[in-house]
Amino acid sequence: MNFSSKLLEDAVNEFGKLPGIGQKTALRLVLHLLGKEQAEVAQFGNTLIKLKNEIKNCRVCHNISDYDICNICSAPKREKEVICVVEDARDVMAIENTNQYFGVYHVLGGLISPMDGIGPSDLTIEDLVERVKTSEVKEIILALSANMEGDTTLFYLHKKLKDFNIPITTIARGIAFGGELEYADEVTLGRSIATRVPYENTLIK
Ligand SMILES: [Zn+2]
Repeated sequence: MNFSSKLLEDAVNEFGKLPGIGQKTALRLVLHLLGKEQAEVAQFGNTLIKLKNEIKNCRVCHNISDYDICNICSAPKREKEVICVVEDARDVMAIENTNQYFGVYHVLGGLISPMDGIGPSDLTIEDLVERVKTSEVKEIILALSANMEGDTTLFYLHKKLKDFNIPITTIARGIAFGGELEYADEVTLGRSIATRVPYENTLIK
């Protein structure tokens, strides 16, 4: 693309770094912003800077939060004894949208992926083990994506957690959610949480 302005080119390049945004879309977005009032563009920029500066990870579950402890962990009505383990904040949002789950979460911050150089120590797994050790937990639900990384992570988590003698369950595999929410509706996801099964039952004997 030939740009008549370096400033325009820089802005388009920044937008083009975002996932799913090609150069044409980037240009359209930048020109759109350029047509806005100064104050509106300032608000757009400031919102992003404020987000990055002030966002926190919940000290208990590692979900994205405005506070040290997130709204879910601090809600008195939530069942603190049931922990649903998920990959990232998108999965929390997807499960919350089902209105079928009343426990709390543990956000791993990714999945084990030797190909990408992500090992157990890159995730919040030790924190989860510590949490199970130090608080009263009645069930751990593993709600991870049905792919190779999800399987590897499930297997590892089960190995780390099985000696606590707490029921470890998993949602129906093959359910795509969170990052892939557009492929699974809330009813299906809600149902798969309601009909979760012991992890051992899902292993090929
Ligand atoms: Zn939390």
